[in-house]
Amino acid sequence: MTDLGPGAEFDAIRELVARWGPQARGIGDDAAVLDVPRGDQLVASTDSAVEGRHFRRAWLTPREIGYRAVTAALSDLAAMAAAPIGVLVALAVPSSWRTDLSGIADGIGDAVAAADTVIVGGNLSDASELSITTTVLGHARAPLTRSGARAGDLVYVTGALGAVGGALAALQGGATLSESQRGRFVRPQARIREARWLANAGASAAIDISDGLAADLTHVAFASGVAIEVDLTAIPVSPGADARAALSSGEEYELAITAPRAIDAAAFVARFGLPLTLIGRVADGEPGLTVRDQASRVTVRSGHDHFSA
Ligand SMILES: [Mg+2]
Repeated sequence: MTDLGPGAEFDAIRELVARWGPQARGIGDDAAVLDVPRGDQLVASTDSAVEGRHFRRAWLTPREIGYRAVTAALSDLAAMAAAPIGVLVALAVPSSWRTDLSGIADGIGDAVAAADTVIVGGNLSDASELSITTTVLGHARAPLTRSGARAGDLVYVTGALGAVGGALAALQGGATLSESQRGRFVRPQARIREARWLANAGASAAIDISDGLAADLTHVAFASGVAIEVDLTAIPVSPGADARAALSSGEEYELAITAPRAIDAAAFVARFGLPLTLIGRVADGEPGLTVRDQASRVTVRSGHDHFSA
């Protein structure tokens, strides 16, 4: 941890580093020094989780808050098919959260362990609301981007969608979640190994689903300058959700990818215990997303930053 302040800050940082143990590496200098394998590129991203903006205190335990914040950032490395090198975590912690700091630290440790990486630096400061800013560093020989989709490519998605949006809507409506509803919401997974497998299998573009499948595929369509067509009935849907909910459900952290050739979905399932589903194709035409239902009626058409039913 850099920027060691006096007194209480210093003690809190030492407590965090002690709690992380071997999960915190090379802490104590002014900056982290990291190796990138020769021939690979450095892939970096940063993401903030802010109390009241991205989560509410009543929804999650401190450990879940730490885990989700860091997992969301790691998911952006997955979207690039990068392998993590390390994360830097900047915590802004109000005094009302101080006793929860160890729980938050444990959640950060859980996320880092799940991605098989380490904490290489960070910062701790006082604040009026809790925020966790995670900078993730990774490496890749050939990073996947949003701009690699080409006409004729196939479109796939990992996992099943809809549960997280459903949980979020329930929480916002004041409901209490069942244990199964809580599961996907509080323990999303950054699909890092899955993404690297998919890149090796020939994926041409990728994005992680943070804004919702429809919005995120629209980002890919615009970045690649292509039309993307999705079959609503092919979308893998979480138990209790429907396809329309699956289209808009954000913070899923599954992957949507394109590939010029069919990908061996059975091999993917066998390797990761996670479905990989063909949901559409890439075509020439005005950039945007078109989703059709079974009767081939257009359900969603997005382009130029608007959605219409
Ligand atoms: Mg992303």
